[in-house]
Formats: sequence, structure tokens, C-alpha cells
Amino acid sequence: MSQPSPEVYERGKGMDAHNEVMREIRSRKDRTYDPHEPTRVWLDEDNTPDGVKRSLTIILNTGGCRWARAGGCTMCGYVAESVEGGSVAHEALMDQIQVCLDHEAENADEPADLIKIYTSGSFLDEREVGAETRRAIGETFGDRERIVVESLPDFVAAEKLDDFTSQGLETDVAIGLETATDRVRHDCVNKYFDFADFEDACAEAGDAGAGVKAYLLMKPPFLSESEAVADMKSSIRRCAAVDHCHTVSMNPTNVQRYTMVDELYFNGGYRPPWLWSVADVLESTADVDAIVVSDPVGHGSDRGAHNCGDCDDLVQKAIKDFDLRQDPTVFSQVSCDCEGTWDVVMAEETSYSMPLAR
Ligand code: SF4
Ligand SMILES: [Zn+2]
Repeated sequence: MSQPSPEVYERGKGMDAHNEVMREIRSRKDRTYDPHEPTRVWLDEDNTPDGVKRSLTIILNTGGCRWARAGGCTMCGYVAESVEGGSVAHEALMDQIQVCLDHEAENADEPADLIKIYTSGSFLDEREVGAETRRAIGETFGDRERIVVESLPDFVAAEKLDDFTSQGLETDVAIGLETATDRVRHDCVNKYFDFADFEDACAEAGDAGAGVKAYLLMKPPFLSESEAVADMKSSIRRCAAVDHCHTVSMNPTNVQRYTMVDELYFNGGYRPPWLWSVADVLESTADVDAIVVSDPVGHGSDRGAHNCGDCDDLVQKAIKDFDLRQDPTVFSQVSCDCEGTWDVVMAEETSYSMPLAR
């Protein structure tokens, strides 16, 4: 894993400082988790290059993300959900998969075509999920159509993806790129890699016959609303232009516990994005050559993307509708008086006077 270089980041500043703060915040967590239980599992449906598919989404409980142990990303509280000790044995991980299969059998009429596996880290990092487990999971789901596994770009390698493609599975890597702008990724998100690393990972996935789903983060801390919107519009276009990146999932920041974003939010220095901003970005990038979706977690709440409280459900519904149909006209059917406030925020909010309105 790359380290912040002393030439770029003086000690105690930049990435070093972010990591130091994040380590202190994360150290306050006091819950531990059972390594035989997945973090979460649910049934849903998703838009894929082969159309809308019923999906089983699994968040495996692994040892957690390596980068988070160093400090990690300013908005990410996921490592606080990982097990103590840093690694989970093969048998325990397979127990977690069984819990997910049982959940599916109890709640769905038939097996889902699409399996999505996230780990609160990198599924392709062998310290989190060893080769034996990766292969066994490929075999377990070999009868499905498509699988998505989450990973940082460093760990994307053709021979690992072969465990899924050799089963005849359409395979995608979900990469948390967050933004195509290196400066924003480094200084606002505190993520260490560059857009060029993402492009390399897309090429590596493509060589393995796999595709890439880019995950973007709308409104990391320290950006005003309009800066965040502009950053997402250009990021979606840059991702969609990269070969093998066929889907962009643009997700608004939500305020998670044990994060720098939570500290800022608590002290009045952060507001999650407006749902109008999400709608604006989706509407204006609907012409790109990629599927673009968004899933505002905790929409309508203070800690999630929200508008005024009256129109949140309506706008969320339009976003979910757009996810499945990719039709930007869904947004012309929603309106609310609070659009006026959003217009002012977009025009006037600056990164030294924000948030301008709650
Ligand atoms: S966002 Fe991803 S890379 Fe960053 S700390 Fe969280 S799990 Fe690790
Ligand atoms: Zn409103």
C-alpha cells in the first residue's frame, strides 16, 4: 500500500494529520462483533449492463480495511463494525455466507441473479479474505449470473478475478474511487490513491474479462455544496470515459459515527448534500455512456442527504426511479418551495462559511 510521501506531505500535516485525527476518533469505539455473523445482508434489485436484476447484497465481516487501521477516510465508519483482532478465519467467513444464503431462502421465492459482496474494506485483499475463501465463495455462487466484489484498486488482479469468471459469472469490481479529482480525494476524503491507479485497475479488470463499478462520494467534508456538485459532474464524466467502467454509483455522504465528518457535523461544520444536488447531478450527466445510479442512505434525516423535510421522500422516489430507468425526465415531476433555498446555497455557500442553511 502506498504511503504518504514526505515530499508532498510534511509530517503532522496533510495525510499524516488526517490519519492521526481519524485514529483517535476510531479508538473511541467499544463494540465488538461476532465473526460468524455478516455485518448486514439484504435483498434488493439493481440496474446492471444486462438489465435490472434481483440482488442479494452481503456485507461480510472481515478484519476490516487496512487503510482504516492507519487512520483512513474521513467519512468512513465501517471499520468500527469490523471484528477485533484484524482477521477472520475461513470457516467463520463461510458461516457468514451460510447465514446470507439462509436469509435469502427465507425471504425470496428464488435465488437472486446478482450477488454483491462488500467487506467494509477490500474483498480482494488476501489479508481480509484469503484465496481459499475467495475460491469457495466463487463456487458457492457459481450458479448465479453476476457477482460484484468490492476492492481498493491496489488489490485488483486478473488471477483473483479468475475465481469468479471461471465459474461463468459476469464479474464486476466495485471500487471506492470517491472522486476523479486527486486533490479532493487526498485532502477531503483522505484516500491515498490516484485516478491513474483507478484507470490501471479498470484495465486489469478488463484483461480478466471483468468490469468495474465506480463508487463516488457526493460532498466530502470541506467542500461547499456547489463545489461538491461540480466535482461530481466532472467525476461521473471522467469515470464513464474509462474503458471497462460501465457503472457509476454516486452516493451522498451520510454522517457515520466515529468519523471526522461526524466531528464536523457535531460542531456545526458539515451538512450532508441536498437531495436537489443529487437530482441535479443525475439529470445533467444522464447522457454519459455508463449506467449512473445513486442510493442516498438515510435520506431525509439530518445525517443523510436531505431537503426541507416535506419533499424528501418524493425526491428520493424520483432518484430510485432514475436508477432503474435512467430517464432524466423523472426529475421534472418533482418540485418544492425549498428549491429556492437550495438555489441560494448553491450560489452563496463557500467553504469558509458553511453550512449556510440547515
Ligand atoms: S472508505 Fe474504504 S478505504 Fe476508506 S477507510 Fe473506509 S473501507 Fe477503508
Ligand atoms: Zn422541500
